[in-house]
Amino acid sequence: MVWPCPLPVDAYVAAGREVEFPRPACPACAGGLVFWSGYWRHVRAAGRCRKIFVPRLRCGRCKVSHALLPAFVLAWRLDVAETVGAVVAEVAGGWCGVRPAAARRAVPYTTARGWVRRFRRRALELGTGFAALAVELGGDALRPAADAGRFALAAIGAAFGAAAGLPGWLGLGVWRFACSVSGGRLIAANTTSPWMMIGKRRFMPPVPP
Ligand SMILES: [Zn+2]
Repeated sequence: MVWPCPLPVDAYVAAGREVEFPRPACPACAGGLVFWSGYWRHVRAAGRCRKIFVPRLRCGRCKVSHALLPAFVLAWRLDVAETVGAVVAEVAGGWCGVRPAAARRAVPYTTARGWVRRFRRRALELGTGFAALAVELGGDALRPAADAGRFALAAIGAAFGAAAGLPGWLGLGVWRFACSVSGGRLIAANTTSPWMMIGKRRFMPPVPP
């Protein structure tokens, strides 16, 4: 699970185990979740590796625990969502090749190439999902473009534009937004119906600061 965390990475790192996080409802039964434990993991932001605490919440009814990732973290990725998003937007948007985009963010070329490939492979699915979300949030309908990658980018932008009218979302930025609504699986390899995460039922505005 991903929560729309508005904190800068530095502030999240500094908070350690004391970081404040919401208690969303259980994704399976909508019951209450309680703090269970947590683990430490690394994230890389602005070329620097940091250690963050990821809380784990547990549903007493389902007997299942869920990690609660802040929105700057993508599942199974070291680099923050903003870094991944910036590279993907530049390359899939046709602004430059992988090599300069990777160099600008100080990430390895092969890593960046992997993100872009994964994004392209999922572009139609992402585009369709985010375009539907944009409409659901009162935005304009988008028609699929000839290039699936550009369609996906336009749809993510349109959905964020529509969401930015709701309290709390604008300050997150487009890539934390995209990470939140895709459950951290924006460029994940194996996803099981990630678009179940999107829709009126699951699309919860963050708590205003
Ligand atoms: Zn449950």
